[in-house]
Amino acid sequence: MQEAYNQAVADATLMACPHCDLLQRLPDLTWAASAKCPRCNHELWRRREDSLNRTTALAIAAALLYIVANTVPMLGLTVVGRGTSTTIIGGAELLWQDGQVTVSILVLFTAIIAPGLQILLMLAIVLGARREPIPRWVGNLLRHHGTTQTWSMLEVMILGVLVALVKIADYATVIPGTALFVLGALIVMLAAMQATFEPREVWDRIRWVMPPADPDAVYPAVAEDDVSKGRGATAMQQELQRCEACGLLSRPAPGEEDGKCPRCGGRLEFRKRASTERAWAFLIAAALCYIPANVLPVLTTTTAAGAESDTILQGVVLLWSPTGWPLSLIVLIASILIPSAKICALGYLLITVQRGGVRNNRQRIRLYRTVDFIGRWSMVDVFVDTFTAALVQLQPLMSVEPGPGLVFFAAVVVLTMLAVESFDPRLIWDATSAMEAQYA
Ligand SMILES: [Zn+2]
Ligand SMILES: [Zn+2]
Repeated sequence: MQEAYNQAVADATLMACPHCDLLQRLPDLTWAASAKCPRCNHELWRRREDSLNRTTALAIAAALLYIVANTVPMLGLTVVGRGTSTTIIGGAELLWQDGQVTVSILVLFTAIIAPGLQILLMLAIVLGARREPIPRWVGNLLRHHGTTQTWSMLEVMILGVLVALVKIADYATVIPGTALFVLGALIVMLAAMQATFEPREVWDRIRWVMPPADPDAVYPAVAEDDVSKGRGATAMQQELQRCEACGLLSRPAPGEEDGKCPRCGGRLEFRKRASTERAWAFLIAAALCYIPANVLPVLTTTTAAGAESDTILQGVVLLWSPTGWPLSLIVLIASILIPSAKICALGYLLITVQRGGVRNNRQRIRLYRTVDFIGRWSMVDVFVDTFTAALVQLQPLMSVEPGPGLVFFAAVVVLTMLAVESFDPRLIWDATSAMEAQYA
Protein backbone atom coordinates (compact mmCIF):
# COMPACT_ATOMS: atom_id res chain seq x y z
CA MET A 1 0.00 0.00 0.00
CA GLN A 2 1.23 3.44 -0.87
CA GLU A 3 1.43 5.72 2.13
CA ALA A 4 -0.14 9.13 1.69
CA TYR A 5 1.52 12.42 2.51
CA ASN A 6 0.40 14.18 5.68
CA GLN A 7 -1.16 17.60 5.73
CA ALA A 8 1.45 20.01 7.10
CA VAL A 9 0.91 22.52 9.87
CA ALA A 10 2.05 25.76 8.23
CA ASP A 11 2.61 27.52 11.55
CA ALA A 12 6.39 27.28 12.03
CA THR A 13 6.37 28.32 15.70
CA LEU A 14 4.11 25.44 16.71
CA MET A 15 6.15 22.42 17.67
CA ALA A 16 6.17 19.22 19.71
CA CYS A 17 8.93 18.25 22.12
CA PRO A 18 10.84 15.21 20.76
CA HIS A 19 11.28 13.83 24.29
CA CYS A 20 7.75 14.29 25.74
CA ASP A 21 5.52 15.29 22.79
CA LEU A 22 4.16 18.37 24.59
CA LEU A 23 2.67 20.76 22.04
CA GLN A 24 4.05 24.27 22.48
CA ARG A 25 5.07 27.46 20.74
CA LEU A 26 8.71 28.32 20.23
CA PRO A 27 9.58 31.73 21.64
CA ASP A 28 11.51 34.22 19.53
CA LEU A 29 15.12 33.87 20.56
CA THR A 30 18.02 36.30 20.60
CA TRP A 31 21.44 35.09 19.44
CA ALA A 32 22.91 32.20 21.42
CA ALA A 33 19.79 31.89 23.58
CA SER A 34 18.08 28.52 23.86
CA ALA A 35 14.52 27.34 24.42
CA LYS A 36 13.84 24.41 26.74
CA CYS A 37 10.74 22.28 27.07
CA PRO A 38 8.94 23.31 30.30
CA ARG A 39 7.86 19.74 30.94
CA CYS A 40 10.97 17.60 30.35
CA ASN A 41 13.72 20.24 30.11
CA HIS A 42 14.87 19.08 26.67
CA GLU A 43 16.64 21.78 24.66
CA LEU A 44 14.29 22.46 21.78
CA TRP A 45 16.24 25.04 19.91
CA ARG A 46 19.39 27.11 20.29
CA ARG A 47 19.87 30.09 18.06
CA ARG A 48 23.36 30.25 16.60
CA GLU A 49 24.95 33.22 14.95
CA ASP A 50 26.20 32.96 11.37
CA SER A 51 25.79 29.19 11.55
CA LEU A 52 26.28 28.31 7.86
CA ASN A 53 29.58 30.16 7.32
CA ARG A 54 31.11 29.01 10.58
CA THR A 55 30.05 25.42 10.05
CA THR A 56 31.51 25.48 6.52
CA ALA A 57 34.87 26.71 7.81
CA LEU A 58 34.94 24.11 10.60
CA ALA A 59 33.91 21.30 8.25
CA ILE A 60 36.71 22.14 5.78
CA ALA A 61 39.25 22.23 8.62
CA ALA A 62 37.90 18.90 9.93
CA ALA A 63 38.19 17.34 6.45
CA LEU A 64 41.88 18.33 6.18
CA LEU A 65 42.67 17.03 9.66
CA TYR A 66 40.80 13.80 8.87
CA ILE A 67 42.97 13.16 5.80
CA VAL A 68 46.20 13.72 7.75
CA ALA A 69 45.02 11.64 10.74
CA ASN A 70 44.38 8.67 8.46
CA THR A 71 47.62 8.76 6.50
CA VAL A 72 50.38 9.24 9.07
CA PRO A 73 51.30 6.73 11.82
CA MET A 74 49.42 7.05 15.09
CA LEU A 75 51.62 4.99 17.37
CA GLY A 76 55.10 3.53 17.15
CA LEU A 77 56.84 1.02 19.34
CA THR A 78 60.41 -0.11 19.79
CA VAL A 79 61.74 -2.95 21.87
CA VAL A 80 65.32 -4.25 21.84
CA GLY A 81 66.07 -2.56 18.53
CA ARG A 82 62.95 -3.74 16.73
CA GLY A 83 60.11 -1.41 15.86
CA THR A 84 56.53 -1.44 14.64
CA SER A 85 54.02 1.28 14.02
CA THR A 86 50.32 1.49 13.23
CA THR A 87 47.78 3.81 11.67
CA ILE A 88 44.08 3.76 12.56
CA ILE A 89 43.31 1.50 9.61
CA GLY A 90 46.25 -0.72 10.60
CA GLY A 91 44.40 -1.64 13.79
CA ALA A 92 41.31 -2.71 11.88
CA GLU A 93 43.44 -4.60 9.33
CA LEU A 94 45.17 -6.65 11.99
CA LEU A 95 41.86 -7.68 13.55
CA TRP A 96 40.73 -8.80 10.10
CA GLN A 97 43.87 -10.91 9.61
CA ASP A 98 43.34 -12.49 13.03
CA GLY A 99 39.87 -13.64 12.01
CA GLN A 100 38.05 -11.02 14.08
CA VAL A 101 36.10 -9.85 11.04
CA THR A 102 33.05 -8.51 12.93
CA VAL A 103 35.07 -6.43 15.39
CA SER A 104 37.33 -5.29 12.55
CA ILE A 105 34.34 -3.94 10.62
CA LEU A 106 33.02 -2.25 13.77
CA VAL A 107 36.36 -0.49 14.39
CA LEU A 108 36.59 0.47 10.72
CA PHE A 109 33.06 1.84 10.82
CA THR A 110 33.22 3.79 14.10
CA ALA A 111 36.77 5.15 13.72
CA ILE A 112 37.06 5.77 9.97
CA ILE A 113 33.85 5.46 7.93
CA ALA A 114 31.36 7.18 10.28
CA PRO A 115 33.60 10.19 11.06
CA GLY A 116 34.45 10.49 7.35
CA LEU A 117 30.77 10.45 6.40
CA GLN A 118 29.96 12.87 9.21
CA ILE A 119 32.37 15.42 7.71
CA LEU A 120 31.49 14.69 4.07
CA LEU A 121 27.72 14.94 4.58
CA MET A 122 28.13 18.12 6.61
CA LEU A 123 30.23 19.68 3.84
CA ALA A 124 27.64 18.73 1.22
CA ILE A 125 24.81 20.06 3.42
CA VAL A 126 26.37 23.46 4.13
CA LEU A 127 27.48 23.93 0.52
CA GLY A 128 24.06 22.87 -0.81
CA ALA A 129 22.38 25.18 1.70
CA ARG A 130 23.86 28.18 -0.09
CA ARG A 131 21.35 27.75 -2.90
CA GLU A 132 17.85 29.26 -2.78
CA PRO A 133 15.60 27.39 -2.27
CA ILE A 134 17.73 24.65 -0.77
CA PRO A 135 17.52 21.56 -3.04
CA ARG A 136 15.74 18.50 -1.69
CA TRP A 137 18.84 16.25 -1.68
CA VAL A 138 20.24 18.42 1.11
CA GLY A 139 17.26 17.32 3.22
CA ASN A 140 17.96 13.66 2.42
CA LEU A 141 21.56 14.05 3.61
CA LEU A 142 20.48 15.97 6.69
CA ARG A 143 18.06 13.18 7.56
CA HIS A 144 20.92 10.70 7.78
CA HIS A 145 23.48 12.99 9.33
CA GLY A 146 22.43 12.16 12.91
CA THR A 147 23.25 8.48 12.37
CA THR A 148 26.81 9.22 11.27
CA GLN A 149 27.19 11.39 14.37
CA THR A 150 25.96 8.61 16.68
CA TRP A 151 28.42 6.07 15.32
CA SER A 152 31.41 8.35 14.90
CA MET A 153 33.51 7.49 17.95
CA LEU A 154 36.87 9.20 17.55
CA GLU A 155 36.87 10.58 21.10
CA VAL A 156 36.28 7.07 22.47
CA MET A 157 38.99 5.69 20.22
CA ILE A 158 41.58 8.20 21.38
CA LEU A 159 40.88 7.27 25.00
CA GLY A 160 41.34 3.63 24.04
CA VAL A 161 44.63 4.42 22.31
CA LEU A 162 45.90 6.26 25.40
CA VAL A 163 45.05 3.31 27.64
CA ALA A 164 46.80 0.94 25.19
CA LEU A 165 49.81 3.24 25.21
CA VAL A 166 50.18 3.08 28.99
CA LYS A 167 49.59 -0.65 28.95
CA ILE A 168 52.38 -1.30 26.44
CA ALA A 169 54.76 1.25 28.02
CA ASP A 170 55.55 -1.36 30.68
CA TYR A 171 57.55 -3.55 28.34
CA ALA A 172 58.38 -1.40 25.32
CA THR A 173 59.11 2.18 24.36
CA VAL A 174 56.02 3.75 22.86
CA ILE A 175 56.32 6.67 20.46
CA PRO A 176 53.16 8.75 20.05
CA GLY A 177 52.79 9.49 16.33
CA THR A 178 51.71 12.68 14.59
CA ALA A 179 48.24 11.26 13.94
CA LEU A 180 47.57 11.16 17.66
CA PHE A 181 47.92 14.94 17.97
CA VAL A 182 46.02 15.56 14.74
CA LEU A 183 43.23 13.35 16.07
CA GLY A 184 43.02 15.43 19.23
CA ALA A 185 42.54 18.55 17.10
CA LEU A 186 40.04 16.74 14.86
CA ILE A 187 37.87 15.76 17.86
CA VAL A 188 37.71 19.39 19.01
CA MET A 189 36.93 20.50 15.45
CA LEU A 190 34.10 17.96 15.06
CA ALA A 191 32.54 19.00 18.37
CA ALA A 192 32.72 22.67 17.33
CA MET A 193 31.24 21.83 13.92
CA GLN A 194 28.23 20.09 15.50
CA ALA A 195 27.77 22.87 18.03
CA THR A 196 27.67 25.67 15.43
CA PHE A 197 25.40 23.88 12.99
CA GLU A 198 21.76 24.99 13.05
CA PRO A 199 19.56 22.39 11.30
CA ARG A 200 16.38 24.47 11.77
CA GLU A 201 17.78 27.18 9.55
CA VAL A 202 18.33 24.68 6.74
CA TRP A 203 14.96 22.93 7.14
CA ASP A 204 13.12 26.27 7.09
CA ARG A 205 14.46 27.06 3.61
CA ILE A 206 14.34 23.63 2.02
CA ARG A 207 12.22 22.82 -1.01
CA TRP A 208 9.30 20.66 0.09
CA VAL A 209 8.48 17.24 -1.33
CA MET A 210 4.81 18.30 -1.39
CA PRO A 211 3.48 21.85 -1.72
CA PRO A 212 3.32 23.55 1.70
CA ALA A 213 0.01 23.52 3.50
CA ASP A 214 -2.82 26.03 3.24
CA PRO A 215 -1.74 29.05 5.33
CA ASP A 216 -5.36 29.78 6.33
CA ALA A 217 -5.95 26.41 7.97
CA VAL A 218 -6.93 26.46 11.66
CA TYR A 219 -4.53 24.87 14.09
CA PRO A 220 -4.96 23.67 17.65
CA ALA A 221 -4.82 26.40 20.24
CA VAL A 222 -1.99 26.07 22.72
CA ALA A 223 -2.88 26.99 26.29
CA GLU A 224 0.29 28.96 27.13
CA ASP A 225 -0.54 28.95 30.84
CA ASP A 226 -0.69 25.17 31.02
CA VAL A 227 2.40 24.70 28.87
CA SER A 228 4.54 26.94 31.07
CA LYS A 229 3.57 24.67 33.99
CA GLY A 230 4.57 21.59 31.97
CA ARG A 231 1.00 20.49 31.24
CA GLY A 232 -1.21 20.49 28.19
CA ALA A 233 -2.03 18.45 25.13
CA THR A 234 0.53 16.35 23.35
CA ALA A 235 0.87 16.36 19.58
CA MET A 236 -0.56 12.82 19.51
CA GLN A 237 -3.66 13.92 21.45
CA GLN A 238 -4.18 16.61 18.82
CA GLU A 239 -3.66 13.96 16.12
CA LEU A 240 -0.45 15.58 14.95
CA GLN A 241 2.74 13.75 14.08
CA ARG A 242 6.20 15.20 14.57
CA CYS A 243 8.74 14.32 11.89
CA GLU A 244 11.73 12.76 13.63
CA ALA A 245 14.09 14.02 10.92
CA CYS A 246 12.98 17.60 10.28
CA GLY A 247 10.69 18.36 13.24
CA LEU A 248 7.72 19.41 11.09
CA LEU A 249 4.24 18.86 12.55
CA SER A 250 1.66 17.38 10.23
CA ARG A 251 -1.67 15.55 10.31
CA PRO A 252 -2.30 12.15 8.68
CA ALA A 253 -5.10 11.95 6.12
CA PRO A 254 -8.50 11.04 7.65
CA GLY A 255 -8.66 7.33 8.46
CA GLU A 256 -4.90 6.86 8.00
CA GLU A 257 -2.58 5.82 10.81
CA ASP A 258 0.73 6.89 9.35
CA GLY A 259 1.88 8.94 6.44
CA LYS A 260 4.93 10.63 4.99
CA CYS A 261 6.39 13.98 5.90
CA PRO A 262 5.33 16.55 3.28
CA ARG A 263 8.58 18.46 3.77
CA CYS A 264 11.32 15.79 3.85
CA GLY A 265 9.48 12.64 2.76
CA GLY A 266 10.38 10.72 5.92
CA ARG A 267 7.99 8.10 7.30
CA LEU A 268 5.88 9.38 10.16
CA GLU A 269 4.46 7.63 13.20
CA PHE A 270 2.84 8.82 16.40
CA ARG A 271 5.32 6.70 18.35
CA LYS A 272 8.30 4.63 17.18
CA ARG A 273 6.92 1.39 15.77
CA ALA A 274 7.02 -1.59 18.18
CA SER A 275 9.34 0.48 20.34
CA THR A 276 9.16 -1.56 23.56
CA GLU A 277 9.25 -4.93 21.76
CA ARG A 278 12.32 -3.99 19.74
CA ALA A 279 14.07 -2.42 22.72
CA TRP A 280 13.42 -5.58 24.78
CA ALA A 281 14.75 -7.81 22.01
CA PHE A 282 18.02 -5.85 21.75
CA LEU A 283 18.30 -5.63 25.52
CA ILE A 284 17.85 -9.37 26.12
CA ALA A 285 20.35 -10.16 23.36
CA ALA A 286 22.80 -7.73 24.99
CA ALA A 287 22.31 -9.31 28.43
CA LEU A 288 23.01 -12.76 26.93
CA CYS A 289 26.21 -11.55 25.24
CA TYR A 290 27.31 -9.87 28.47
CA ILE A 291 28.13 -13.28 30.01
CA PRO A 292 30.61 -14.61 27.39
CA ALA A 293 31.98 -11.06 27.05
CA ASN A 294 33.16 -11.23 30.65
CA VAL A 295 34.06 -14.92 30.88
CA LEU A 296 35.99 -15.40 27.62
CA PRO A 297 39.46 -13.88 27.12
CA VAL A 298 39.71 -10.65 25.12
CA LEU A 299 43.48 -10.76 24.64
CA THR A 300 46.06 -13.52 24.35
CA THR A 301 49.70 -12.62 24.93
CA THR A 302 52.30 -14.98 23.48
CA THR A 303 55.91 -14.75 24.68
CA ALA A 304 58.82 -17.18 24.75
CA ALA A 305 57.51 -18.38 28.11
CA GLY A 306 54.15 -19.39 26.62
CA ALA A 307 50.69 -17.97 26.01
CA GLU A 308 48.48 -16.22 28.51
CA SER A 309 44.86 -15.14 28.09
CA ASP A 310 43.12 -12.30 29.88
CA THR A 311 39.46 -11.48 30.34
CA ILE A 312 38.31 -7.86 30.65
CA LEU A 313 38.43 -7.99 34.45
CA GLN A 314 41.92 -9.52 34.44
CA GLY A 315 42.96 -6.69 32.13
CA VAL A 316 41.69 -4.19 34.70
CA VAL A 317 43.68 -5.92 37.45
CA LEU A 318 46.84 -6.05 35.29
CA LEU A 319 46.60 -2.34 34.58
CA TRP A 320 46.26 -1.51 38.29
CA SER A 321 49.53 -0.01 39.54
CA PRO A 322 50.57 3.11 41.50
CA THR A 323 50.68 5.07 38.22
CA GLY A 324 48.26 3.16 36.03
CA TRP A 325 45.24 3.02 38.35
CA PRO A 326 43.32 5.95 36.81
CA LEU A 327 43.32 4.17 33.44
CA SER A 328 42.46 0.90 35.11
CA LEU A 329 39.49 2.66 36.69
CA ILE A 330 38.41 4.06 33.30
CA VAL A 331 38.40 0.57 31.78
CA LEU A 332 36.54 -0.83 34.81
CA ILE A 333 33.85 1.84 34.57
CA ALA A 334 33.56 1.82 30.79
CA SER A 335 33.67 -1.93 30.24
CA ILE A 336 32.01 -3.46 33.28
CA LEU A 337 29.95 -0.87 35.14
CA ILE A 338 28.48 1.11 32.21
CA PRO A 339 27.17 -1.90 30.21
CA SER A 340 25.56 -3.54 33.24
CA ALA A 341 24.12 -0.23 34.52
CA LYS A 342 22.81 0.47 31.04
CA ILE A 343 21.06 -2.91 30.79
CA CYS A 344 19.44 -2.41 34.23
CA ALA A 345 18.41 1.20 33.55
CA LEU A 346 16.81 0.36 30.21
CA GLY A 347 15.03 -2.64 31.73
CA TYR A 348 13.64 -0.35 34.44
CA LEU A 349 12.46 2.22 31.87
CA LEU A 350 10.78 -0.46 29.76
CA ILE A 351 9.01 -2.06 32.73
CA THR A 352 7.71 1.27 34.10
CA VAL A 353 6.52 2.32 30.63
CA GLN A 354 4.69 -0.97 30.08
CA ARG A 355 3.02 -0.71 33.49
CA GLY A 356 1.82 2.80 32.61
CA GLY A 357 3.88 4.46 35.35
CA VAL A 358 3.14 8.13 36.02
CA ARG A 359 5.71 8.78 38.73
CA ASN A 360 9.27 10.11 38.57
CA ASN A 361 8.87 11.17 34.94
CA ARG A 362 11.60 13.79 35.15
CA GLN A 363 14.00 11.34 36.77
CA ARG A 364 13.17 8.69 34.19
CA ILE A 365 13.76 11.01 31.23
CA ARG A 366 17.05 12.07 32.83
CA LEU A 367 18.01 8.41 33.19
CA TYR A 368 17.18 7.87 29.50
CA ARG A 369 19.38 10.79 28.45
CA THR A 370 22.26 9.60 30.65
CA VAL A 371 22.08 6.10 29.20
CA ASP A 372 21.98 7.57 25.70
CA PHE A 373 24.99 9.79 26.40
CA ILE A 374 27.34 7.33 28.13
CA GLY A 375 26.65 4.24 26.02
CA ARG A 376 29.30 4.91 23.37
CA TRP A 377 32.08 5.09 25.99
CA SER A 378 31.82 1.33 26.57
CA MET A 379 33.54 0.93 23.21
CA VAL A 380 36.77 2.05 24.83
CA ASP A 381 37.94 -1.49 25.64
CA VAL A 382 37.39 -2.63 22.06
CA PHE A 383 39.81 0.10 20.95
CA VAL A 384 42.30 -0.68 23.74
CA ASP A 385 42.47 -4.32 22.68
CA THR A 386 42.55 -3.50 18.97
CA PHE A 387 45.52 -1.16 19.20
CA THR A 388 47.39 -3.23 21.76
CA ALA A 389 47.20 -6.19 19.39
CA ALA A 390 48.04 -4.05 16.34
CA LEU A 391 51.20 -2.70 17.96
CA VAL A 392 52.58 -5.66 19.82
CA GLN A 393 53.54 -7.78 16.81
CA LEU A 394 57.15 -8.69 17.58
CA GLN A 395 57.26 -12.36 16.68
CA PRO A 396 58.87 -14.49 17.96
CA LEU A 397 59.67 -12.22 20.93
CA MET A 398 56.17 -11.27 21.86
CA SER A 399 52.80 -10.90 20.23
CA VAL A 400 49.28 -10.07 21.31
CA GLU A 401 46.14 -11.42 19.66
CA PRO A 402 42.52 -10.53 20.22
CA GLY A 403 40.50 -13.26 21.96
CA PRO A 404 36.98 -14.64 21.41
CA GLY A 405 35.50 -12.50 24.21
CA LEU A 406 36.07 -9.35 22.17
CA VAL A 407 33.31 -10.03 19.64
CA PHE A 408 30.77 -10.64 22.43
CA PHE A 409 31.86 -7.48 24.19
CA ALA A 410 31.51 -5.44 21.00
CA ALA A 411 28.05 -7.03 20.55
CA VAL A 412 27.00 -5.84 24.02
CA VAL A 413 27.99 -2.27 23.17
CA VAL A 414 26.23 -2.26 19.79
CA LEU A 415 23.08 -4.05 21.04
CA THR A 416 22.61 -1.70 23.99
CA MET A 417 23.06 1.29 21.68
CA LEU A 418 20.41 -0.16 19.34
CA ALA A 419 18.10 -0.76 22.33
CA VAL A 420 18.37 2.90 23.36
CA GLU A 421 17.81 3.91 19.73
CA SER A 422 14.60 1.82 19.57
CA PHE A 423 13.19 3.19 22.82
CA ASP A 424 10.78 6.08 22.36
CA PRO A 425 11.23 8.53 25.30
CA ARG A 426 7.76 9.98 24.71
CA LEU A 427 6.31 6.72 26.07
CA ILE A 428 7.52 7.81 29.54
CA TRP A 429 5.00 10.68 29.46
CA ASP A 430 2.08 9.04 27.71
CA ALA A 431 0.38 7.66 30.82
CA THR A 432 0.66 11.07 32.52
CA SER A 433 -0.70 12.87 29.44
CA ALA A 434 -3.67 10.49 29.25
CA MET A 435 -4.43 11.04 32.94
CA GLU A 436 -4.20 14.83 32.61
CA ALA A 437 -6.55 14.78 29.62
CA GLN A 438 -9.08 12.81 31.67
CA TYR A 439 -9.15 15.35 34.49
CA ALA A 440 -8.88 18.45 32.34
ZN1 LIG B 1 9.56 17.92 26.55
ZN1 LIG C 1 10.23 15.67 7.85
